[in-house]
Order: sequence, then C-alpha cells, then structure tokens
Amino acid sequence: MLLTISTTHAPATELGYLLHKRPGRFQSFDLSFGRAHVFYPEAAEDRCAACLLLDVDPVGMVRGRRPQSFLLSQYVNDRPYVASSLLSVAIARVFGSAMQGRSKERPELATTPIPLSARIDVLPVRAGEPFLHEVFEPLGYEVEAMRHPLDAQFPEWGESPYYSVTVRKATTLSELLTHLYVLIPVFDNQKHYFIGEDELEKLMAKGEGWLARHPKKEAIARRYLKFQPSLYRAALARLVQEEAPAEAADDERPADRREAALEKPLSLNEQRLGAVLAALRSSGARRILDLGCGEGKLVRELMKERQFEEIVGLDVSMRSLEIAAQRLKLERLPERQAERVKLLHGSLTYRDGRLKGFDAAAVVEVIEHLDAPRLAAFERVVFEFARPQTIVLTTPNREYNVMWETLPAGRFRHTDHRFEWTREEFAEWATRIGERRGYQVRRLPVGAEHEHVGPPTQMGVFTRE
Ligand code: SAH
Repeated sequence: MLLTISTTHAPATELGYLLHKRPGRFQSFDLSFGRAHVFYPEAAEDRCAACLLLDVDPVGMVRGRRPQSFLLSQYVNDRPYVASSLLSVAIARVFGSAMQGRSKERPELATTPIPLSARIDVLPVRAGEPFLHEVFEPLGYEVEAMRHPLDAQFPEWGESPYYSVTVRKATTLSELLTHLYVLIPVFDNQKHYFIGEDELEKLMAKGEGWLARHPKKEAIARRYLKFQPSLYRAALARLVQEEAPAEAADDERPADRREAALEKPLSLNEQRLGAVLAALRSSGARRILDLGCGEGKLVRELMKERQFEEIVGLDVSMRSLEIAAQRLKLERLPERQAERVKLLHGSLTYRDGRLKGFDAAAVVEVIEHLDAPRLAAFERVVFEFARPQTIVLTTPNREYNVMWETLPAGRFRHTDHRFEWTREEFAEWATRIGERRGYQVRRLPVGAEHEHVGPPTQMGVFTRE
C-alpha cells in the first residue's frame, strides 16, 4: 500500500523539513508487520511529492498465532495491498513529529495551511462511494476516487471495492496526517490488533477538536473501533459531550493539553467557562447548581474557588455523571472537600425538590438539547420551582455557524441539538421569561464577536427582582 503526500506550496521541497525526511534519500523503517519506505518521486520548487510505501509481510503477521478457520487466508488476503490500520501505525511511526505539527527547521510552516494532497492506493470502500465523500468532505477536502476493476483482464467480473483515492485541501500537514490516521482504518473492516481501551483513547486524542463536530462521527467511531458496542458507546458518550469548535483537552493527557493550549490560545469552551465563572463570582453566590453539568468541566472550576461553598451538578446522563465523578476524583477527596460537591442524577424537565435553596444556577449549553415543547417544563423547573437569585445560561448563536469551516450549511453544531437560536430568538425567549418570572435579564457575547454574525456563544444572566 502506498500513501503519496504532495504539495505545490513554493518552495515545495520544504515538505522534506515538515516530514523530517530529506528528499534526496531513500529511507526504510522496520515495523512489527513489515517494512516502511519513504522516498520522493518528485522534488521540484513548484511541486514535491513524498511516498510512504508499506511492505507488509502477511505470513510474518500470522506466524506463531493460532491458525484461522480458513487456513489459506494467511496467504490469500488483501492485507499487503489495501490501506488499513497498518498504514496508520506506519504514519505514526515514520511521520510522528510531522503529525504533531513539530518541525525544528520550519516551525512556522508546520502550523501554516498550505495546499496539500494525499493519494491512497488503495482504499477498500465497501460501504460505498458516497460514504467516502461523507467522511472527507465535511472536513473541507476535495475528494477524487478512482474505482479499480476486480481484474483488468476480465472486465466481466465487474468492479472491486478498491479505490485509488486522492483528497486535497489547504491545511497544515499535521492536520492532514491526523485525519488520515483516524480515517483510513474507518474504511477497512479488519484491524490487525486487539481493540481495547487504548484505541478509544487514541481516537479521542487524535479526534480532538474535529471529530465531535463531524456529521458522520457515529459511523467513524463505530468503524474505527471495529463495531465493538461497549467501546463505541463510550466513544459516543464522550463525543456527544464535546461541543462547538475547540474543545478543552482531557485532564488525563497533560502533554496533549499543553499542545492544545499552544495551538489555540483560548478555546471557545474555556472562554465560555470563564464567562460563566465571572458571572457567578460577581453575583456573590455561595451555593451553586450546575444544571446539565455533563462531565463536570464547570464543577471542576468552581471547586477551585473558595467563594463557592456548595456545588451541586445535575445531569440526566448517568454515564456523564460517572465520568464526572472519575475526573473530579470525588472518591479520593478529603472529607471537607467532598462535602462541598455533589452530583445528582435527574432531569431538568421534572420538578425536583433537591434544587431548592441555591443562590445561583449555571445552565451551560443545555437548553438546545431539550425538545422545544419541553422547554416550557424546563422554564418552570428552573425559574419557578428552583428559583435561585441568579441564573447564568448559555446557548449557541446559530448565526455564527457560517464561520465553522467544517459545518455544512444549515446544520446544527451538534447532532443532538434540537434547535439553535439566532441572537434575536434568544433575546425574545430570555425577555419573555424575565417578564413572566420576575427576573432582570442581561445578555452578553461569549467568544470573539464577528461584526455581522455576532459571537459564537450567547449568554444570558438572569437576576431575580
Ligand atoms: N454543561 C456541560 C454539558 C453540556 S452538554 C458543559 O458545558 O460541558 C448538555 C448536557 O445536558 C449533557 O450532559 C446532557 O446529558 C444534559 N441534558 C440534556 N437533557 C437534560 C435534561 N432533561 N436534564 C438534565 N440534563 C440534561
């Protein structure tokens, strides 16, 4: 199998610095399942192409393993020829620094989008050609696919599921390699090694910042994890929590987090948390509810500040609460800290006595997950029964969606969103609630405001009259 990366960014030979492989040399690398070779079929000022050729040893791969039911399958299989997870392993091994966006000689170029293309020979597209487009196009790639016949000498045998695929986009080499790393195995039904928790972690790490917004994220996760229901459900639970553009990294991966922090000075998610925290702080509240707390990102921030004496997170998703409890290490906290924090399982559309008597409630990126008819129930539960002094609520600004490059027109940011409001729609709703329930309303932008479409997120701060 062969991967060809090329660019027309002049001087094109700088691709060698980005890949950390010199154009003049033929280099080989040993892998557990064969050998990888890197060479440049083309290295000119205006165009440069680097090939990663994978030479898989199909017999070596099965040596010492239990024989498969179909004995010949060790010898007669498509493993050496089709792009699969083996190619991803090779990409990570041979182009690891490039994938992380590191280049000693050309650090700036490594983070600059340049015209890039990747040709994969060959990709098994058994799920059908439309799927190929559905996977790459939302990420902004132009896709060219050439289908191969089963046997060129016997056209009557028909078409094979194998395609030569080229994807093109102006992007950073790091992003291109990351997308290929995750997406190539999605097309193959086999994986060469055991799929376990660490595969899930890899998917989450490499998919950070783009997979959660991908309209085909479910199919991608399911196929990447080779249809293992428990893993794929866990992946989805995590992807579903991820929101909007740049996502905060996971606590468990400090190295990734540092990198993410360098790349995006302040993600929208961080700005949102910052804005909500500031509003809660200045309200003077001590006892706080985080309604729809998800995996506990806000709870974690609240715990760092002594002003907040009691913090209660509530969510309808048990799975999210489990993750939150783990991340916050609730079981290992000293007793006094532990007493400050509680996580409750419940729904915001049913009246709940446990929510009474708090100073403030945060409702961060939650209402758009409720069916519009349930919104009236939510209003009563929060503004009539729980009725804290302050309510800080955020929701996406639909007008801003045109700014997300990978979001197809007319789509919501998240497949689970039931609606997304324009600034005017939010203003109307907030004002109406304020009048009906006796709250003063202030609306504030969150994230960099665009002159025409406004900010990515809108926030309402409701104060009881
Ligand atoms: N506030 C969190 C999570 C936002 S995602 C954050 O900013 O990170 C939306 C959350 O709302 C999910 O965790 C989802 O489980 C929760 N949710 C959806 N409907 C709910 C309901 N009816 N009651 C309580 N929580 C709900």
